[in-house]
Amino acid sequence: MKKTRNTRQRGVILDILRESCEHPTAEMIYREARQALPNISLGTVYRNLNFLRDQGAVREIRPSEGGSSRFDRADIPHAHFHCVHCSALLDIALPPALESLTLEEEKISAVSLVDLHVIGSCSGCEAAAN
Ligand SMILES: [Zn+2]
Ligand SMILES: [Zn+2]
Repeated sequence: MKKTRNTRQRGVILDILRESCEHPTAEMIYREARQALPNISLGTVYRNLNFLRDQGAVREIRPSEGGSSRFDRADIPHAHFHCVHCSALLDIALPPALESLTLEEEKISAVSLVDLHVIGSCSGCEAAAN
């Protein structure tokens, strides 16, 4: 029975990540997951996120400025833009050179994840400063 419960919990967590574009923290995922699974604990959410990350189904993003890890779907390769002012985390396209990294670099045999972070100001914060 335990296996079935884990599968359902992971399904709910993956759905939350697929529907969200704000790269939620584990706490945010926990609050969402409780709508579908009222008895789920924060520890269970963390355990499932770690499992899914180790399986390659979920990406964990550790902000360079510290703070809580953010989580993301892993099925679509993309890079991230971090705003230093409001901690917004936006999806941006990977540069083509990184998409074809394996083919061009003979010392690399396989790429499992490209983790590119671009740091700057988002347009919302730029507008507020002017
Ligand atoms: Zn911002
Ligand atoms: Zn993302």
